[in-house]
Amino acid sequence: MTEANTYNKPLPVPSPETEAFWEGCKRHELLIPRCDKCGSHWFPPSILCPECLSTEWQWVKASGKGKVFAFGVYHRVYHQGFKEEVPYTVAVVELEEGPRMVSNVTGIPPTDVKVDMPVEVYFDDVTPEATLYKFKPA
Ligand SMILES: [Zn+2]
Repeated sequence: MTEANTYNKPLPVPSPETEAFWEGCKRHELLIPRCDKCGSHWFPPSILCPECLSTEWQWVKASGKGKVFAFGVYHRVYHQGFKEEVPYTVAVVELEEGPRMVSNVTGIPPTDVKVDMPVEVYFDDVTPEATLYKFKPA
């Protein structure tokens, strides 16, 4: 390593199923699978449509808009990388397209986060190799 890496939190480890998703994040695009047969969107990515089991699907760019489906507030430091951030919000966000994804809701105090609150995605380029998707109030 030639330069100091100051990012000290866990990073995504792309799998064959998720590699295109994480590459999309690097381009600041939220990609989700859409079935060619039945039109379903889903997340996390898998090789089969969970609705009709079709293998014919493609990546599409999601709107990035959604709402908080559920959330929790972390007050305890489970990982030293988050020591400066507690308390912070971990939420299940339901996208307009239907799929739900786990992420952070930032830009708002955890005490102000509400279920059904509209949120939109943004991208955090945490290292030269990794970009994370997060949500903020819409
Ligand atoms: Zn399908």
